[in-house]
This record gives sequence, structure tokens and C-alpha cells, in this order.
Amino acid sequence: VKAAAPDPSAAVTAIPPPRRLPWHSGDWSRLATLLAAGRLPHALLLIGDPAHGVLDFAGRAVARLLCIAPVAGDGAAEACGHCTGCRLLAAGSHPDLHRLEPEEGHEQIRVDEARAAVAFAGLTAGQGALKLILVPGAERLNVQAANCLLKTLEEPPAGTLFLLTTRRPARLLVTVRSRCQRFALRPPARAAALAWLGEQGLPAAEAESRLDLARGRPLDALDEAAASRLTLYRDLLAGLEALPGTGGTATGEALWLTALAGERTHAEVLPVLTMLCEDLLRLAAGGSDTTLAAPGQAERLRPLAERLTPETAGGMVSACYASARQGLATGLKSEELQDALSLALSAVGGAARPAR
Ligand SMILES: [Zn+2]
Repeated sequence: VKAAAPDPSAAVTAIPPPRRLPWHSGDWSRLATLLAAGRLPHALLLIGDPAHGVLDFAGRAVARLLCIAPVAGDGAAEACGHCTGCRLLAAGSHPDLHRLEPEEGHEQIRVDEARAAVAFAGLTAGQGALKLILVPGAERLNVQAANCLLKTLEEPPAGTLFLLTTRRPARLLVTVRSRCQRFALRPPARAAALAWLGEQGLPAAEAESRLDLARGRPLDALDEAAASRLTLYRDLLAGLEALPGTGGTATGEALWLTALAGERTHAEVLPVLTMLCEDLLRLAAGGSDTTLAAPGQAERLRPLAERLTPETAGGMVSACYASARQGLATGLKSEELQDALSLALSAVGGAARPAR
């Protein structure tokens, strides 16, 4: 039984109001210049990490393009937020916007969804002269869906604009990529990301640590998961510092195991533990603080790293990777994770003990 083509209007869902992220101001002006000069291509590929805000940038562009009365903004005009276009957009029912995304429960954008987008492109614009097809995460287009789009993407009906986003342009079919104009967003500078996190209410030290553990991605640093990653990193580090082999007490191991117990899953613990072990390896191998995932913790990491040879630290990282491989294959239970970690523990403790 062939599935019915999705109703184009059903694919339009409410868009959260896009954030104006300060590190985008240069890119925003660049886009405005294209628009003002009438040089906006009919297919624009926005390249950037969602955790750097590429979806906010895309949402802001959609809002600006569908707004009937744009107002002066940060170096370039912005959507007014009040006109019919803006209100329809906020309600998720703008007739001139189509979001091409995977159907619920699917990871890929399949050919039925692509057909609906092509059909939408063939319609006459409702509110204004412009029709927008937004494709967030365009690397999710499967081959058939991408092929279905090619003709429309190359020669869309007048007044149709494709706005695609991707973090990894190399994952798009070359035939899709070649029909789009690339527009790479600049990643946020650390200072700008920290300033923004401060504006969101994070205390400076907390913002720094969270940004480190989010590997410099400010939107990730802001979410609750980032707070929990930071707590976990500190807990694991405290456990490691308190191990008997590292000059701590016998309660150290219990502390370490406590850090791993409770509600935390393998999937939560392992990436953070891996980061910690990798940081120790970097320091043990003579790396500088700035190369760490958590440079803010360098003072605490360094005494531990000094007890480790690069080989031992490498062994800890390997234990993490091995655990991740097993976890992916079987879904580790917490006791099994602890078994895997005892390898890493004995590496740290063992390295500090005098040779027998
Ligand atoms: Zn408006």
C-alpha cells in the first residue's frame, strides 16, 4: 500500500522565535546585502552547527523574508514581529512557508515529503510574492528525495526560495550541493559566546566551564544537559583525586563509584568520562591547558596527570572507547560500566604506587 502524499499544510509547524545571536551579526549583514542587491540565490545552503545557532539564523532569515514591514535592526533589517506575515509565521500557519523535514518517527527525509515540497513550489504564493521552502538538516534527504528535488532546486518557479541548512555539507549529494549557493556561518568566538551565556544568566565561571565541556558550542552550553555534564565531570574528577593511589583515601573509590551511580546512564557517563581521560592524556603527553576539553579544570587535572605516563593515560582512554564499543553493541548496564571503569581506575592507582 502506497502511503498518501503528506498534506503540504500539515508539514508547517510552529517555529520557535529565532534568537538574534551576537556572533551572527556579520553574517546577518552579509545576507542583508545580498537581499538588498537582489542577489539572493534561489537556493541558499546555510552551513553551520545547530549548537552554534544555524537554525536560529535560518529562522531569522525566514521571518525577515516573510515580514511585510521589516524594521531596522542590528546593522540590517529584521522582521517586525507584528504584521500579518509575522503573525502567521508565529502561529505556524504561514501559507508561503513549507518545512521539508522527516516525517515523524523517521530520521530521513523521504521521497513523499520531497514531492510535497515540489508541489508546494508549484503553488501560487498566498500572502506575498515569495514562497519559502526551509530544509533544516538537509543532509537527512535520502537519495530518492534529493533526486526528486533536483529539477525544482535548479529552476524553481519564480518567487520560490529554498533555504537549506547543514552542519556537514559533504554529506549532501553533490547534485544538491552544486545547485545551492553556499553561505557558511562563522562559528562564535569564545569571548562572544561567553558574553552571550552571561546575558542568559550564567555566572562567568560556570559559563566558562560549561562552554568548555560543550566544546565551544554555546547553545549546548546553555541547556540543562550541559549543567549536568559539568557536575558529572567535577564528580568524576573528585573521585579520581580521592583514590588511594592518587594520594587520597580509601573512600575515594567509593566516591568515584557514587559519581557513577544513581540515575545516570552509560550514555550520559561515558562521554564525560572519556573527556576527562582524554584531558589527562593530553596533559600527560605534555599538552598545554588550552588543548583541554575543560581548560578551567587544569589546576586539578595537572597533579593527577603528573602521576601518569602517556601510555597509562592512553590505556584509560582505550578503556573508555572499549566500553563505548561494547555499550553500542549491547547497551551496558551500570555494573558492567563500573567493571569497564575499574580498568581505568587501576591504571591511575597503579601508576602512582611504588613499583613492587
Ligand atoms: Zn512583520
